[in-house]
Amino acid sequence: MSRGRGLYLHVPFCKSKCAYCDFPSYAGCEEEMPRVAGRMCAELFDWGKKLKDTVIETMYIGGGTPSLLPPALMGRLLAAARAAFPFAPDAEVSCEMNPGTVTPAFLEACVRGGVNRVSLGAQCAQDRLLRQIGRIHTFRDVRASVSLLRGAGLTNFNLDMMLGLPGQTMEDVRETLDAFLALSPAHISCYALIVEENTLLEKKVRSGEWLLPDEDTERDMYELARETLAQNGYRQYEISNFAREGFLCRHNRDCWLRHEYIGAGAAACGFVGNRRWRNPAAIPDYLRGEPPEITVLSEEDARFEAVMLGLRLTDGLPEAAFRASFGVGFREAFGEKLDAPLRDGRLTLDGGVLRLTRRGMDVMNSVLVELL
Ligand code: SF4
Repeated sequence: MSRGRGLYLHVPFCKSKCAYCDFPSYAGCEEEMPRVAGRMCAELFDWGKKLKDTVIETMYIGGGTPSLLPPALMGRLLAAARAAFPFAPDAEVSCEMNPGTVTPAFLEACVRGGVNRVSLGAQCAQDRLLRQIGRIHTFRDVRASVSLLRGAGLTNFNLDMMLGLPGQTMEDVRETLDAFLALSPAHISCYALIVEENTLLEKKVRSGEWLLPDEDTERDMYELARETLAQNGYRQYEISNFAREGFLCRHNRDCWLRHEYIGAGAAACGFVGNRRWRNPAAIPDYLRGEPPEITVLSEEDARFEAVMLGLRLTDGLPEAAFRASFGVGFREAFGEKLDAPLRDGRLTLDGGVLRLTRRGMDVMNSVLVELL
């Protein structure tokens, strides 16, 4: 019997490194692209042989900056994925792209290879903020990329938006929301900036050179985004994700629901059965065929993971699905650890669905710590 799975391809190249980024992406090593793509094709072929029952329901090409790949290499990767696995007729195939790197030739290769959804790293509408955080593009480039997407027939696209940038004001957020809505995306992701260790951002914030908005202002920014997007027909379906009816990202939703997916590429993660794995992040290690890091999940780990991921979704986690996976209900799995968050209104358990309340979403970590 065939089994629906996701497929994630990681493209670890960027034009330059953004100030806040600690993702596995590397600048200035474009000459490695053909070898990395070749290794990814071989990896896909191996997985296709190993997991013969797989039908790909969603594929997500992330990075890094996939749109930095030469069109021929992108075409090769897409063809290799389809040669390794059968794809469902309605498979969602998403590709991340960054403004300033999107070209008609790249889009043509994507469309020919079956890409039908794009996520564009737009971030904000103010060039001064984009420059400061090290993005390589202006807002004009965002508009130009969107017009290229439309020209290629790729109307199902997401715009990424960042909140809490150094020097960002409420007015900037308002202006960004208006500018993004004017581009009529199908989906908007709103991420709060995280200060990661060993990034330029951390150094600048620590030295006091860059000032971040305080916690209250950042919460107000998020609320403004949430309200504005709701008023404009975007339903929040996850903590950071908003979509027009019918346009949520199926690949990401499936990850939060713990559906299995195969990962290929340097630093790519995968999840099949009770194993999660992560390929080596450094390109030389990946090219040498160093083994992935494998985590075997215990039953208890898996249950906690199901709640940790499922609660991110505004629709919550149905008890029937939890029971089907683990043979027990929420009470048997978490006992009295559920009492406090249910009593003080951070969680609800109504109609057999466990859900974070609006307040609970703001303090999700506290709920998880108590359930752990
Ligand atoms: S484009 Fe994305 S992956 Fe690349 S450096 Fe910037 S934030 Fe990191």
